[in-house]
Amino acid sequence: MLAGGLSLGYIGLLVAGLRVRNNAESPRVWLLATLFLALLAQGVHLLVSNAHQGPYRALFIGGLTQPALAVLLTSLMLIGFAALSLRYLGRFRAAPVVILGLFWWMIVAVVVAQTPDKQALLGQPGWITKAFTVPVDSAGLLVVGVWAALGLSWVLAALVGFYTAHLPEVANRALYWMIIGPVTLMGAILGASGSPALRELGWIILFVGLCGAVYGVNNHRVLDIRQLFKATFSTGLTLAAILLVLLSALFVARQLDPNAPNLSVLLIALAVAGTAAYVPLRGLAIWLNNRIFGTPPEDATAYVREYNQNVSGIVELRELSDIAINVLMRTLRVRRAALLLATREDNDTIRIEPMQSATSDMPEVRAWIPKGGPVYRKLFEQRAALLQYDLEYSPEFTPIAPELKSFFKQLRMSAYAPIVIQDQLIGVMAAGSKSNDDPFSMHDMELLATIASQTGVALRNARLVADLRRARDETEALNHDISRTKERLEQLDKVKSDFVTIASHELRTPLTQIRGYTDILDTLNDQGMVDSDQLAGMTNNLRKATERMERLIGDMLDVSQIGIDAMDLRFGPTTLESVVRLAIEPLTESIKQRKLQVTARGLKSLPEIDADGKRLVQAIQNVVLNAIKYTPDGGRVDIVGRLDKNEQTGAELIHATIQDSGIGIDSQHHELIFEKFYRVADPGLHSTGTTKFLGAGPGLGLTIARGVIQGHGGRIWVESPGYDPEKLPGTTVHILLPVDRPDTAKRLTPFEAPSQTKPVTVPAEISAAKDTGPLKRNQAQAGAQG
Ligand code: ADP
Repeated sequence: MLAGGLSLGYIGLLVAGLRVRNNAESPRVWLLATLFLALLAQGVHLLVSNAHQGPYRALFIGGLTQPALAVLLTSLMLIGFAALSLRYLGRFRAAPVVILGLFWWMIVAVVVAQTPDKQALLGQPGWITKAFTVPVDSAGLLVVGVWAALGLSWVLAALVGFYTAHLPEVANRALYWMIIGPVTLMGAILGASGSPALRELGWIILFVGLCGAVYGVNNHRVLDIRQLFKATFSTGLTLAAILLVLLSALFVARQLDPNAPNLSVLLIALAVAGTAAYVPLRGLAIWLNNRIFGTPPEDATAYVREYNQNVSGIVELRELSDIAINVLMRTLRVRRAALLLATREDNDTIRIEPMQSATSDMPEVRAWIPKGGPVYRKLFEQRAALLQYDLEYSPEFTPIAPELKSFFKQLRMSAYAPIVIQDQLIGVMAAGSKSNDDPFSMHDMELLATIASQTGVALRNARLVADLRRARDETEALNHDISRTKERLEQLDKVKSDFVTIASHELRTPLTQIRGYTDILDTLNDQGMVDSDQLAGMTNNLRKATERMERLIGDMLDVSQIGIDAMDLRFGPTTLESVVRLAIEPLTESIKQRKLQVTARGLKSLPEIDADGKRLVQAIQNVVLNAIKYTPDGGRVDIVGRLDKNEQTGAELIHATIQDSGIGIDSQHHELIFEKFYRVADPGLHSTGTTKFLGAGPGLGLTIARGVIQGHGGRIWVESPGYDPEKLPGTTVHILLPVDRPDTAKRLTPFEAPSQTKPVTVPAEISAAKDTGPLKRNQAQAGAQG
């Protein structure tokens, strides 16, 4: 009767299981297999008991009697259940257990089949105890031993699952299985025990256990076991307190003499005393309960009301986030919490990113929630809170993108509630795991949702303020940029107009000289008074004037080449030392006249470089000339060279500095002086001499120097504390040159004429100069006087 009913029950469970979609999921497959085997094992009991002894004897092979068959089928069912447990608890593989189990099962079946039916003990009353008593029934021992091993394996798997769970809900599943597993095993043992008194109880227990398994597999969120346990325990404590009072009262009442004259008064007094005793006892029960499970959260309403009042006035995002996190941690008793900002990116996606706060360290991540996706539906359309556990395990969220899943996982939160205002999702409140590791209850979720919805107005205001501030900062930065560009344009405009002034001044001076001398020559010639000394002097001056014009025109030509990136560089091996010597050599006379101290250090030890020696001489000379021009008489010019390394590429670089003790340059001109025709001084001044103190030039020297250095793949810049003709802060020009010709060097000539491949020769007089001391100023003619 019972066996039949239970068989029908199993059929019902199977049909229900088959009708559920997603049958391909592996725990469900194993569940169906287990149910089917349980149905078979149950069905065996429908056969006439001990049928093998009766007329159906021929149907049974050896010891494979009806009770033995029931045990064997139950064993198969337990193998299925073991596989189900391992798959249900996650990360474990079921195959090894199934293969080993089947192997063992076949051995038992063969052993039993070969035992004569009279001696077959398996399934007969008391077979379990007989398995351990001598003479040992080998089949019985094998069965009991492996059942124990199977039971142990899934309890262990549940324990591992519980302790390694990253979410309380996952731990709860393991905890749930820790109850379902032993119940099922217990049912199986009793059901197959063969004892008529126990087996029916066993069948019921097994059925209950398997019903529990069906519930567990079909619902990704199972009953909160810890909550259940707590509730049971606290109800038990209260019941115990009531019972104690009642029983004590009854006990005392029975001791009373029924004939006592004031019995009713006594009984009333007893009842009052019992009621009075209940109050402290109940208090004790509550205290005990709290001691064991921790105090329940205080009424959150007060916190939430206070939060609601505080939050409305906040316009700072950071402050709002801190307060919201604080209230979440206090009311929900969570370890961490965060405010996530949601921003509509376009019509189809919402960007979501956590806000950094003082209390919890959030990863710098962001993700995009597609509209119409399950996360969006849940948070926005249903305005419902969302559990991290559901995100990971519920079939509803299987379709979400792996990036979005990993984003939520990285946040290490347990629950999320949407902040929606004016029909827009503007944020999400996230709460981490609870400090007592309980799963989130419905009440917790509601509380989270309430706090989230109360944050709405403040979050909108704070975000508006933040947006306004950002817009203001951007406008300010833009204004700054505009005014800088304007300044630069004005300066460049000035350079343009200066060009006309400078060029006309620079050209007019030598032209006037030429004109004057030719007029004088004409007059003298007319009068026949030309003497050879006079002629020599005048032609000398004429030459100087034309040379100056030539130089200016040459410089202008060079600059125009730089402008169109057409400077022709001829690379060959050379050294910085020779370049410096050749650059200084024509200036030695002027250096002497101006009583300047020019020193060079660290040049000798530098390696050879691949460069256009002639152009480098021109560049260094321009820089040194400036140092001379802008340093008063008696000042110093120090040239220092050292070897550096490019930090990014590791390439070797020569770093040369030309430092003077001159008037210095204001920082606003540090870049502009490299522009064509740019001079700091009044453009109206014409060049008075290339080496005179403050002698103005056409403003092309540094432009050419930069063009040459950049053409070599190098860099040139100036440093100076500022302009001060009194204190003379000085200027330092830095030049970086790559040792090897870099790919960026302009106009690389594929082959060099022999004259260019030769190292630049150093004049004997300059070579003699000490590398560490002042350069010898000797007779070399300064070719540049006004
Ligand atoms: P210039 O032909 O006028 O010397 P440059 O291009 O060589 O043209 O220099 C541009 C301007 O930079 C100069 O007019 C001068 O005002 C400033 N300058 C360059 N080098 C120095 C220096 N060592 N000390 C002070 N000012 C300098």
